[in-house]
Amino acid sequence: MSAAAKPTRPPKAAPRVLHGAGGPAVSPTASARRRGVKTSVSVALDIVRDIVSQRLQAGDKLPLESELLKHYGVSRASLREGMRLLEVQGLLSIRPGPGGVVVGGAHPANLGRSLMLHMQFVGATYDELMDTCIWTEGQLAELAARNRDRKKVRRLMLPFLSQSDAHSAASGFEHPIEEGLDFHLAVGALVENRVRAFMLMMPGQVLVEHIISNVERKFLEDPFVHDHEAIAVAIIAGNAMRAGKLMRDHFEHLNKYFRTYWPRAVADKIQGR
Ligand SMILES: [Zn+2]
Repeated sequence: MSAAAKPTRPPKAAPRVLHGAGGPAVSPTASARRRGVKTSVSVALDIVRDIVSQRLQAGDKLPLESELLKHYGVSRASLREGMRLLEVQGLLSIRPGPGGVVVGGAHPANLGRSLMLHMQFVGATYDELMDTCIWTEGQLAELAARNRDRKKVRRLMLPFLSQSDAHSAASGFEHPIEEGLDFHLAVGALVENRVRAFMLMMPGQVLVEHIISNVERKFLEDPFVHDHEAIAVAIIAGNAMRAGKLMRDHFEHLNKYFRTYWPRAVADKIQGR
């Protein structure tokens, strides 16, 4: 058999865009519409399904609007509304002009913004938010300590070890606030069940956006750096009970701190910014 007779293979690297060809994705959208789901919502769900099935990454572009209209078989208004829903969630970024529509990312902070709207709606206070965070963050620390990938646990927690020794107060080194936020994101990233991780990280993300960014302090207080280190040690040791307790203690410390530096706001109702 000659080489020429071999069946031709499809190109190895398919372009990272949704495939406009192949006609509209009729079935899911149509069935969703029959169930009474708003067209824009079902288009949003279809777009997410396509992003996932085609393994698009953050920064990848979606096809032109004309192709998307053909592909999803909906009106321009419904398509745009669907994409706008995803943009609000940070899952898409819509850039004016040739930038087009770009895939974003799933982040608990985006979900946190939705939670914030609901909490504002029912008149919840920052006090209630803080109270919730003491519990959720404790759960996150326990779950992080139980992560079965011990190599990953060590890798993510290592940067937060021995910081207080390496940079003693005498050296005048200060830890930027971002480092504290990174610590809590790293703990969340160690929760194996992503549904739990997202659910539990949401209140902390609201706290970050509303309280920490309002307190106008650029550096972490030393006791917080020590708290982080002790929690990291417990997580690396796989001691879930201790990690959870230390994290709850840490949030009790934060709670006292906020009451000192921002006393008025603690009893305030949660407000959009
Ligand atoms: Zn902290």
